Amino acid sequence: MRPADYLPPFDPRDHIGAPTDPEDERIEVGVLIVGAGPAGLACAIRLGQLLESAPEVRERLGEVPVAVLEKGKQPGSHLLSGAVVNPRALRRLFKGRKRIDELPFYGPVEHESVYFLTPRRALRIPTPPTMKNEGNVVASLSQLGRWLAEQAEESGAMILPETAAVKLLAADGRVRGVRTGDKGRGREGQELGNFEPGADLVARVTVLAEGTQGHLTGVALNRFGLAGENPQVWALGVKEVWKVARPLNRVIHTMGWPLRAAAKYREFGGSFIYPMGEDMVTLGMVVGLDYRDVELSVHDLLQELKTHPLVRKLLEGGERVAWGAKTIPEGGFLSLPKRLHAPGLLICGDGAGLVNVPALKGIHYAIESGSLAAEAAFAALQRGQTPSTPGALAVYDDALRQSFVWKDLQEVRNMRQAFGRGFWLGGALAGAMTATKGHFPPGNTRTERDVDQELIRTDRAQSYPAPDGTLTFDRLSSVFASGNKTRDDQPNHIVIRRDVPPELARMWERMCPAQVYEAAGDGVTVTPSNCVQCGAITAKGGRLTPPEGGSGPEYTLT
Ligand SMILES: Cc1cc2nc3c(=O)[nH]c(=O)nc-3n(C[C@H](O)[C@H](O)[C@H](O)COP(=O)(O)OP(=O)(O)OC[C@H]3O[C@@H](n4cnc5c(N)ncnc54)[C@H](O)[C@@H]3O)c2cc1C
Ligand code: SF4
Repeated sequence: MRPADYLPPFDPRDHIGAPTDPEDERIEVGVLIVGAGPAGLACAIRLGQLLESAPEVRERLGEVPVAVLEKGKQPGSHLLSGAVVNPRALRRLFKGRKRIDELPFYGPVEHESVYFLTPRRALRIPTPPTMKNEGNVVASLSQLGRWLAEQAEESGAMILPETAAVKLLAADGRVRGVRTGDKGRGREGQELGNFEPGADLVARVTVLAEGTQGHLTGVALNRFGLAGENPQVWALGVKEVWKVARPLNRVIHTMGWPLRAAAKYREFGGSFIYPMGEDMVTLGMVVGLDYRDVELSVHDLLQELKTHPLVRKLLEGGERVAWGAKTIPEGGFLSLPKRLHAPGLLICGDGAGLVNVPALKGIHYAIESGSLAAEAAFAALQRGQTPSTPGALAVYDDALRQSFVWKDLQEVRNMRQAFGRGFWLGGALAGAMTATKGHFPPGNTRTERDVDQELIRTDRAQSYPAPDGTLTFDRLSSVFASGNKTRDDQPNHIVIRRDVPPELARMWERMCPAQVYEAAGDGVTVTPSNCVQCGAITAKGGRLTPPEGGSGPEYTLT
């Protein structure tokens, strides 16, 4: 049985259409950016810089030249990453304006270790070249996002938090903007006392910077035929931040346990443990969503990881202060869309799939692609240009292809796919790919969709540790630690089939780090208000749509 056999009815065409508000009631902005993550905020900052020296273009863009929509309570609320940041793209973005040491970082990576774990032992192995972090810095992406949002506002952008873009506005073959979601609806969709209808926001250029599992990005790829030949695949990352008694002086990555190496399980991933200054440590587990065992739970694997002597020692005497989860697009170069523009539209960051999987890096690609999108939009807004004519924004694709982003991703293009063949064979192939800078193997490996993996069932769950409330936790206390206070009487935003076989219901129950699903009799029950919008359900047989703006986690340290 495959999750793909039970896909819910979901038609992207229901999420795209012409503006419906009367023309004089539409909100007009110059450039509309969806998503206040590193990609969207870099785009806003770069546009601000370019408009600073082109007052006549700014003038023509009207009262609000640049607007950024963010569904979280504030910028940063939905941002979660490792995060070791390669500062390359930030240096370019702030060239001549800010030094890297003025940004909110916890400091440079000074030492690093990679371990292969067995249940009791940790064998130090040489750091693979793709995982080296010399010159990189440690951050909380949520904190960096808040800081970038301040810079974007200072450069003239208007940021609209608690605002979800739910429909792509398109007419006459071009993107016109987005419609924002209604607020104040009850569980059955009825209007409550505080009801506020959504609005049409129209713009000359719309930039989708929605990150992983972007709702409108998927709709746009479908509508404009932009998807590439290979499907996208994802991993789920679950992380915690700890206040610790002793500082950690290095970045740690682990492979092996608690994942199983045999090819039949398809368990690809590992853990990261990063220092955040003198008194905090962040640690997380990242696992490919092409796994097959219905009992696999990334939330519980992270709990298990903390019981390993290597990790337990680091956390001893400490206290968990934050928790969160998010997916990562892992298909890499082979899964990139054919084009990242359409008339009036640009797509950047994780929404486009710009992630280097062996390096676990996407932030600098998000920032670089956002900056390049800004430059392309700015060029198309000059007098005499029309961004909505076909090909007017193609310079963005050209610039991205010329950039380090493309070169980096091309070199590791088959790496993720190789690990579908098990840890040992995948590791050997990855080594050969690194040594030849991607020339071996010469062709492109096929990518299999996460939903197409046949499910199996083992007794894996029996060895997950029982939550003790000190070192190990259950999911509900994790959801609490994410700051999630979603109103529990809003409409359900998760699209799944309820009449699914017990194996699939069980798989969702284990997969969801926020305890949204419960296998029940001949189907599954759903508690949508627990959802932290990680996106895993979209990879494994359902569809996450944006809930009411302002819902979901309120991350501050992730
Ligand atoms: C566990 C984990 C560890 C990682 N570790 C690292 C690391 O160490 N280093 C590194 O470089 N990269 C790392 N990455 C990857 C990195 O975090 C991403 O590549 C990066 O965040 C992508 O930036 P983005 O701006 O494209 O998307 P995001 O950071 O996801 O931001 C998108 C924003 O858009 C908003 N949004 C989405 N849809 C809508 C909508 N319809 N309406 C309104 N708002 C919307 C979201 O709420 C969010 O704020 C990691 C990722 C994970 C999950
Ligand atoms: S319901 Fe889906 S999107 Fe929400 S937290 Fe659970 S798996 Fe993630």
